[in-house]
Amino acid sequence: MTELNDKVTKLKKEYREIFATMTDVIQDKLEQIKPKDFDGDLFTQYSPNSVGQEWQKSAIKLLNEDISKEIYRKLNEILAYRTNFHCIGCATCCKLACSQFSPEELKQKADNGDNFATQFLSVFIPYQSKEEARKVYPEYIELLEENGEENVYFYHCPKLTKENRCSDYENRPQICRDFPDNPLSILPKACGYKAWKDEIEPIALMLHSMIEIVEHYTKELITLLE
Ligand code: SF4
Ligand code: SF4
Repeated sequence: MTELNDKVTKLKKEYREIFATMTDVIQDKLEQIKPKDFDGDLFTQYSPNSVGQEWQKSAIKLLNEDISKEIYRKLNEILAYRTNFHCIGCATCCKLACSQFSPEELKQKADNGDNFATQFLSVFIPYQSKEEARKVYPEYIELLEENGEENVYFYHCPKLTKENRCSDYENRPQICRDFPDNPLSILPKACGYKAWKDEIEPIALMLHSMIEIVEHYTKELITLLE
């Protein structure tokens, strides 16, 4: 097992623990707004206009207003903190971009107005084979293989010069300017943002788990209210 795979396995374990803790925290917040003298459960079907339904509506509001606002405020904070770190020009992110979508699927998404797909296709072209991609970042390809991730397409940018410089730097799209904007993405060891990622990883895991819980609870509650 590679060092990278070890790290991802450890991260998954940490995520499960954080997820369980944040589930308790959010459940606690939802219990705190439970109507006085009501002893029902939040995830039960109640009749229209009952106390139970009022609680469920308040819970949806709490999840999607107060809790979500706090999540996105913290997310913005960690993204703003990234400006303290800098790209060192290793060019790995220009030489290897992965997507779960094939070029045809990306084209279809772009035609349907997907801005990310449009930007992605404006710079990246597919590698002819996985072996070519492997030469850029072998550990990463191995990680995908060890985790059975088969539905991955590998791309690279032809605008990168032999000297590892962007030949269209002034006009590079926003996705290049924003990289890495996902605090949980896997970064090459040499990446200048690796220290940022390592530092904010625990809070990014916590926020990610909270987003998952909020989405799941909201969906459940909306179904119960229908
Ligand atoms: S446009 Fe420039 S910065 Fe963006 S991927 Fe290509 S070479 Fe890299
Ligand atoms: S992987 Fe990181 S350091 Fe390397 S070019 Fe991309 S942003 Fe810069």
